[in-house]
Amino acid sequence: MPLPAKTHRRTKIVATIGPGCDNEDMLGRLIGAGVDVFRLNFSHGSVKNHGQVAERIRRQSRHAGRYVGILADLQGPKIRIGGFETGSVQLTAGDPFCLDITLDSEKGDSRRVGVEYQSLPQQVAVDDILLLDDGKLRLRVDDVTDTAVDCTVLIGGKLSSRKGVNKLGGGLAAPALTEKDREDIAGMGNIAPDFVAVSFVSSHRDIDLARELLEAVQVEAAIIAKIERAEVVADSKLLDSIIRASDGIMVARGDLGVEVGDAQLIGIQKDLISRTRKLDRLVITATQMMESMINNSMPTRAEVFDVANAVLDGTDAVMLSAETAVGQYPVEVVTAMADAAIGAERHPVARTSRYRLDREFSSAQETVALSAMYGANHFPGVCGLAALTEHGNTPTMMSRLSSGLPIFGLSRQHRTLQKLSLCRGVIPLYFDVTAFQPEDLDARILEFLLDGGYLNRGDFLLLTMGSTAGEAGKTNQMKILTVE
Ligand code: PGA
Ligand code: MN
Repeated sequence: MPLPAKTHRRTKIVATIGPGCDNEDMLGRLIGAGVDVFRLNFSHGSVKNHGQVAERIRRQSRHAGRYVGILADLQGPKIRIGGFETGSVQLTAGDPFCLDITLDSEKGDSRRVGVEYQSLPQQVAVDDILLLDDGKLRLRVDDVTDTAVDCTVLIGGKLSSRKGVNKLGGGLAAPALTEKDREDIAGMGNIAPDFVAVSFVSSHRDIDLARELLEAVQVEAAIIAKIERAEVVADSKLLDSIIRASDGIMVARGDLGVEVGDAQLIGIQKDLISRTRKLDRLVITATQMMESMINNSMPTRAEVFDVANAVLDGTDAVMLSAETAVGQYPVEVVTAMADAAIGAERHPVARTSRYRLDREFSSAQETVALSAMYGANHFPGVCGLAALTEHGNTPTMMSRLSSGLPIFGLSRQHRTLQKLSLCRGVIPLYFDVTAFQPEDLDARILEFLLDGGYLNRGDFLLLTMGSTAGEAGKTNQMKILTVE
């Protein structure tokens, strides 16, 4: 029996799969703890392996009777150092260190390391700051030749093989959708992901291309643009065109934070979330949200507040990376994240909206969706909204406004329900509108939600639908029903 509607968590949780949690038992427990979407990280593992995990996820989500999404996250052109003969080295501030594109990929030592990305010397200049391993180590560029970048270590530390390289301020750019990404997309037929994330997006063309490649293999996934390049957030036109081309974005704080600095990232996160919601797209806030829980069974208060802050900013989902992929407390971290989200959702900031008072609606569907939201939020006694939906657009638009009320996305389309798993405040439920006579529909919907424990007698429910049920984009009606 689901919990009463009022205690439902609205913010969704994305958890990254890794060796720490990819077995059947653990996947079931993670779903039980509240994971809404699993991320398959294509920076690791084979397509075949991801396919097996996807099968387990589908089985466990059926078992739990919940729609749990799968997000396939492409590796993209992350620039990495090569390997060290000893696996890792210790760099000390003041010492020289060289990135050498001619060095054999396993032959690195404490003076130099290889880099596969052959254009590196062309893309850096003297005095640039290079950041290694998500910014943990810093190098200053002293000299650049055709094949090598000579640096001085500014901040030292342990450096292991194949860690990432970023440039402070951004601009280290290899084209998105690498050969590997294309092969991974070509092999995604069996996985049938609900979402595909494109890494290091630099233009809407990367998204258009990903869409074409996915269509070619008949994968019907929503596309998430990972925002992780400094030059993208610096150009609002470019950013908007990327958001519009996508179904959603990820605030990919790992790489973005390294390039722009954490102090800048605070405002950027807020702007990205509000921009994306205004453009009716979804947004995931990602990376190092509860990092200390990789090794500890409790989060720090700062981490709880970081999750809460993203919730107050209006994010659809918060994401766990290494915490679930390789951490020791995968179930505990999901529970801690869920608690933090619920705590933040109690605050009025997370529940109130300005109803787009300053803007015109662009379709009947949007007009009905947002009017319903306005009505629901202002009429005491309304306990939720139900949207009969084919493609999920009406509940998605509703959830672009903040509210404390649940939005029931009722659909007979499994793909649509899977995609609503990422959408803040939306509870995806299977309901086949074509199985009922139009005159019985209102009563059947109330009965269905009452049986599910989502409504109480005496409540009002706001219902939206199209006059021809079962057609996409046709929502043109709103009703207020009383639960009797
Ligand atoms: P990654 O992306 O984990 O694939 O690097 C997320 C980020 O950069 O924050
Ligand atoms: Mn990244």
